[in-house]
Amino acid sequence: MDYYSSHISKLIEQLSRLPGIGAKSAQRLAFHIINMPKEQVEQLSNAMTGAKENVRYCKECFTLTDQELCPICANAKRNHKQIMVVENTRDLAAYEKTGKFEGVYHVLHGAISPMLGIGPNDIRLKELMHRLQEDVDEVIIATNSSLEGETTAMYISKLIKPTGIKVSRIASGVPVGGDLEYIDEVTLLRALEGRVEL
Ligand code: ZN
Repeated sequence: MDYYSSHISKLIEQLSRLPGIGAKSAQRLAFHIINMPKEQVEQLSNAMTGAKENVRYCKECFTLTDQELCPICANAKRNHKQIMVVENTRDLAAYEKTGKFEGVYHVLHGAISPMLGIGPNDIRLKELMHRLQEDVDEVIIATNSSLEGETTAMYISKLIKPTGIKVSRIASGVPVGGDLEYIDEVTLLRALEGRVEL
């Protein structure tokens, strides 16, 4: 049954595909968009296409950026011998907000999850190992404390151990299963400072 014009239905359908947007929110957003001034709608759709067309992975750390190298990797003042491994760009942003980490990052874009069929080859692990051929002092594993995050941390530490590079894991204290991005800066700093060598 189509209560709305097909254009509205299409818009609702597209919006409801977004994560965290249920049928009701999709309707609400659709009507909001229809009531917005045309220029504003254009700005919104341009921002979406522009982001999609211009955002790419940093060739060093694989975070999302619009340059070949992200601003962190391009910054000579950062300690390029200390690499913090995170699951996604949002986690990187959470640590960056503390303003206290002077190293660089490596973004895995996921975590190993046998249950979801995500293996080591499905995340940016090969790329991490490749980076370790350069002069690196320490790898700090800052994956989430979920089952997947812990599995990934263990897997990475086993991979790195034979290279002789120091591997550490951020302190637990980060709530179990908690996404790093929702944790406050003080907790994050404490987790970083209290990291233990694996
Ligand atoms: Zn980078």
